[in-house]
Amino acid sequence: MSYQRQWIKHCRACGSAVTYRLPDDGDTKQRAICNDCHLVHYENPLNVVGTVPHLDQRVLLCKRNIEPRKGKWTLPAGFMELAETTAEGAARETMEEAGANFKIGPLFTVMSVPRVGQVHLYYLAELINDEFHPGFETQEARMFSEADIPWDELAFRTVQETLKHYFEDLHAGKFEVHTFNID
Ligand code: ZN
Repeated sequence: MSYQRQWIKHCRACGSAVTYRLPDDGDTKQRAICNDCHLVHYENPLNVVGTVPHLDQRVLLCKRNIEPRKGKWTLPAGFMELAETTAEGAARETMEEAGANFKIGPLFTVMSVPRVGQVHLYYLAELINDEFHPGFETQEARMFSEADIPWDELAFRTVQETLKHYFEDLHAGKFEVHTFNID
């Protein structure tokens, strides 16, 4: 698979324009190469980690207070930081965005999103209560039953798909890991 999207435009070393082309060292993938200093920029996907916080057949959603998708509803999630595990990152994001009391559970969804060069991982998280103290990234944090989920007001397709699988598994009485791709 190849992608033609130009991910970066300027050299990180000297600031000159880059061109996507094959390096002359035998590399078979096009790389962003500086037109002036010829630095080859290797770019790799980022991990987004989050949780499905749940209690009594309801899930916690956060109304975003930051762009992108400000005002839309999301599960707590964000970019993984260096020196943390995926589960630690998911728990950290849940603390930061919702201020929730919870116990982190098993991995639930693994989604490749090649269009934006990301991998999203969501863990189940069992809420201890429904008292939240959201941080600045969140306008409002509250619980939703399946019937109340604002499906048309969700921030991201990854959130929509994860919630869909959550309620399917809830009805089936068995939670499994779901691995799939999002175009
Ligand atoms: Zn350069």
